[in-house]
This record gives sequence, C-alpha cells and structure tokens, in this order.
Amino acid sequence: MKKQEITSFRKIRDVITTLFPIAAKRFPRFFPLMALETLCDVLRPFLGVYLTPMIVDGLVNGLPFGRLMTYACILLGGETLFTVIRQLAATALNKYQERLGNYFRERTGEHVMSLDFQLTEDKKALDQLEKANTGMDWYSGGVYGIANQFFLLAGNILKIGGFTAVIASRMPLLLAAVCVYVLISGIMTVKANRVELQAYEKLSKVNRLFEYFGWNIVDFRYGKDIRLYDGSAMLVNKWDSYQNESVGAWKWQAGSTRKYSLVSVVLDVARIVITYGYAGLLTIRGVLTPGTFTQMVESAGGLDATLGGLVWNVTELFKRCNYAYEYILFERYPAALPKGTRPVQNGPHRIEFRNVTFAYPGTDRKVLDGVDLTIEPGERLSLVGLNGAGKTTLVKLLCRLYDPSEGQILMDGTDIREYDYTAYMRQFAPVFQDFRLFGFSVLENICLKDIKDITPADRARAEEMIRKTGLAEMTEKLPKGLDTRIFKVFEEDGVEPSGGEQQKLAIARALYKDAPVVILDEPTAALDPVAEYDIYRQFNELVENRTALYISHRLSSSRFCDHIAVFSDGKVAEYGTHEELVNAPGGLYAKMFEAQAQYYR
Ligand code: ADP
Repeated sequence: MKKQEITSFRKIRDVITTLFPIAAKRFPRFFPLMALETLCDVLRPFLGVYLTPMIVDGLVNGLPFGRLMTYACILLGGETLFTVIRQLAATALNKYQERLGNYFRERTGEHVMSLDFQLTEDKKALDQLEKANTGMDWYSGGVYGIANQFFLLAGNILKIGGFTAVIASRMPLLLAAVCVYVLISGIMTVKANRVELQAYEKLSKVNRLFEYFGWNIVDFRYGKDIRLYDGSAMLVNKWDSYQNESVGAWKWQAGSTRKYSLVSVVLDVARIVITYGYAGLLTIRGVLTPGTFTQMVESAGGLDATLGGLVWNVTELFKRCNYAYEYILFERYPAALPKGTRPVQNGPHRIEFRNVTFAYPGTDRKVLDGVDLTIEPGERLSLVGLNGAGKTTLVKLLCRLYDPSEGQILMDGTDIREYDYTAYMRQFAPVFQDFRLFGFSVLENICLKDIKDITPADRARAEEMIRKTGLAEMTEKLPKGLDTRIFKVFEEDGVEPSGGEQQKLAIARALYKDAPVVILDEPTAALDPVAEYDIYRQFNELVENRTALYISHRLSSSRFCDHIAVFSDGKVAEYGTHEELVNAPGGLYAKMFEAQAQYYR
C-alpha cells in the first residue's frame, strides 16, 4: 500500500513537472489566469468574514449610519469586484479547455507518427497509446482539468489557513470539533472514490465496446455488409445488452456509495447543531459579541466546506494524475531501433546484405535466413519468389522499418544503423503493396506537404510526375484539377480513383520524392499482367539513373533488370541475369518463367 502511494506521489510530481511546463510554453496566459481566478476565490469570502461582524456589532451598538454604510459599501463593492474579475478570468480560461485538449492530441499524433514503425504492430505500445488517449481525455480532464484541481487545492489550503486563524482566535474548541467532522467525512469521500474507481474499471470495457459498435453502425464502410447480411438487428441487440451492462455498473456505484452519502448528511446536521449551539452559548454568556457569533458561524461553515473540498481535491488530483501519467509513459515509450548520427552522402549508393537473418518481433520463424546480396549503384534488381518468400521483408529491413535479427546491411560500406535515421530514410522512395493515399488533394498526396507550403515549383514538379505516370488524362478531367480531393471523406465532390489510378498516384509520389533508391513492391497486383508489364516498363524509364528494386511474383519486371534474385525459404536461391536464369535447367526462375511465359511472348 505504502509503495503504491509513493508511486502515486511520483506520478503527481511527474505529471505536474512534465505537462505544466509544456502547457505554459504553448499557452503562456493560461496559468496566470488560473492563478488570478484562484486569488479571487480565496479573497472573496474573507471580506464577509471581517466586515459582517463589524456591521452586525455596529447595528447593535448604534454606530453612525455613515460608518455602517461605508462598511456595507466596501463589502458589496469588494464582492462585486472579485466576482467580476473572477468571471472575466473564467471566461478567458474557457477556451483553453478545448485548446489544451487539441494541443495534446496533436502531440500524441505527432508522437505516433515518429514512433519506430515496428511499434505500430506492438500490442503493448498500442495499449499504451489507448491508455494515453483515454488518460488525457475526460477521465483526467487533461492538463486543464489537472491544473484546475491543482489551483483549487492551493486556494483551499490558503482559505483553510485563514478560517483556522479566525476560529482559533475565539473558539479553539470548535476548531477541534470541525477537525473530527472533516476527518470522518474525508474517510467517506475516499471510500466513495474507491467505489468510483472500481466502477470505472467495470465501465472501461463496456465503453470500448460501445465505441466499437457506435462506429460500426455509423461507418459507411460497414454499410454493405450490415445490409446484405441483415446485421442491423444483431448490432442493435448487442448495443442494448452493453447498455444494460453499463446501466448496471452505474446502479452498482450508486448503491455502493449510498451509505457514505448518508453518513455525510448526518455529520452535516451534527456540525451545524454543534457550531450554532456552542457559539450561541458563548454569545449568551457575553464571551462573543453578536457580530463575532456570525463571524464564527460563517468561518466554521467555510472551514468545513473548504476542508471537504481539500479532501476531494487531493483524491481528484491523485486520480487525474494517475490517468494522465499514461500519456507521459507513452511519450517516453522506448524506441525500438537504435539510431546513429553519421551523415548520409546523397547520390547513388552501394548496398550490401551480409548474412541477414530476420524473424518478426514476437515470432521464431526465420523469414530471412542468411541472405547475402549486393546491389550496385544505379543497378536494377528484380526480387522474385513465391508469395511469403520474404521479398517485402527484405525491403522493410533495407528501409529500416525493422532491423535484422542477425547479420548486417551496409550502405556504402557502413552499417545502416550508424546513419542518421531521418537522413537515411530520405534515400528511399518505396511504393509498398499496401500503400495508402490520404483524403487530401491530389497535389498534397504527391508532394506530401500541406497546400499552403506547396510552392509553384513543387506544383510544376508534381505536374511533371503526373504526366510521366500517365495520369494527366485523369487529372485534367477533375473539377478542380490537382486540387481535387481524393475520396469522399471530406468533400462531396472528392474523386474516387480506380485501383490502377491509385497505384499510379503512389508511383508519382515516389518519383516526386527524388530519392536515390526507388522500390516498387508489387503495387500492381490489381492489374492484369499486360498492364502490369507496361507499368514496370514505364517506371523503369522514369527512374533514370537511380537504383531500382522491383518486387513481383510475376516476372514482367525481370527482363529489363540487370540482375534477378530469386527468393525461396528465406534465402537467395538463384541470382543472375534473366538470360542466365531462364536457361538454367531445373531452376526455380526458369520454371516460373515457363509457367507465365504465355503473357510475355
Ligand atoms: P513476400 O513479399 O515475399 O510475399 P513477405 O516478406 O511479405 O513475403 O512475408 C514473408 C513472411 O513473413 C510471410 O510468411 C508473412 O506472413 C510474414 N510476415 C509478414 N509481415 C509480418 C509481420 N508484420 N509480422 C509477422 N509476420 C509477418
């Protein structure tokens, strides 16, 4: 228990010392506004505590009307001033809730995109991302919610100091009674919070399911299957049953906290009776003036409310920081790959695989098993082999989406792990089998820049690539040309390119990048063999003097390549020119070529 508490304190410290400076740097006015709001909250009640007794005693003792009015004006004026300033601060603060939320969501997104690729398949990393997202959501209220609790806590500590000083000056015994009351009601709050946390655990699974079903029902991509398989009744029924589960959890929480609420009500009544009774008695005996009576009653009420608030603040701060800490854990998620600092020379590269062996993380099967392969600068190399032979995996290793389990990959004689990661990545323009286009304009998809950063020169280059890849005919027909959005996610008049057009767009994007090594990883599977042959042939002309790797289980790309590496069982089973391999009797390539030859003759 103790250890857990220490950890929680550390979490609070980490959350505050990490997230507050980030928020303050981005929104410098946020914390001063919070401090101003808190200051008004702290000072306002003490105006009454000090001035009300003076007015009451003044009335009883027949103080001149002018003096009484002065007190009343200071009280009212002060209250109004504090209320107005507080309100102005609160209004100014309102917008920060949304802004801070968006800012930290943006940071999470940025972090996700900068994560090592292999973590995007890592269940632990994905879970941490999920926890970071929900942790910074309404469970913690994000930085806004945490800062709010933090300032409430600070304000309440100041108020407690003030009320305690006032009561201790006249009725130290009452102070003791209030402390006992607060202790018991604090215990009740902690117990009720514990129940709430348990209910959260119960609800988090149901909430995840709700979200899943909510999306399935509204997401148009599921529309066809839901209609044709008559799935709506199943989804609605499931929704109902999760709804019942959710209502059950809420009921359980309400039932379990009922007894604590009851104790709190009884305690409240007892506190009022004791305060009024004791202060009244002292007033009748002449120990307190009527004015001090009101002061004591008001201060005891204030102290009680503030102490109750303090217990709530502390438990809330613990709770919220615990949730938000998941975000910090995600930001600190360790990198999966080591990264070097060696600068990369631009230009054609000599690439060498030395005894490269690889199994995907969490698996034992060697997808690549001792691959030796050299790619000379400007060479065209075709990687062929049956599906699952490891060709794409080899490319992923070359692009440092993963690192080899054994062996090494060298670029210009240096282990690729030693190079600066970002500069190294710039050397490759792959078009993967499962490439993705974004729901942005054609132009943005090719340049991968926001429209406002695209220069006329960028546009001209993009147009050139469009022409070269044979897309001009399609883009000329678009209502807004290259500025037409792809897909209908954001705009009614978005264009839905055909499979072949999407592939050409992906190729245009790769050529636009102008990297020294281009890779075409079978992005043409949707095309018929003849069209595929055309694409590879055109592409081969477009890559000019760059190094090019072609992957295809069809052999259309192989004929114009300098060399062909045939993969089988994780190894390079055959290597040579088309002529050499096609004439190797009993060879894998020769067999594959023969089987497919009808398309190429
Ligand atoms: P190819 O490109 O030759 O068709 P791949 O390199 O895509 O083959 O795949 C080689 C093997 O690795 C396949 O058996 C595939 O199932 C497996 N594989 C691919 N990606 C992953 C992954 N992310 N995790 C685990 N296994 C994978």
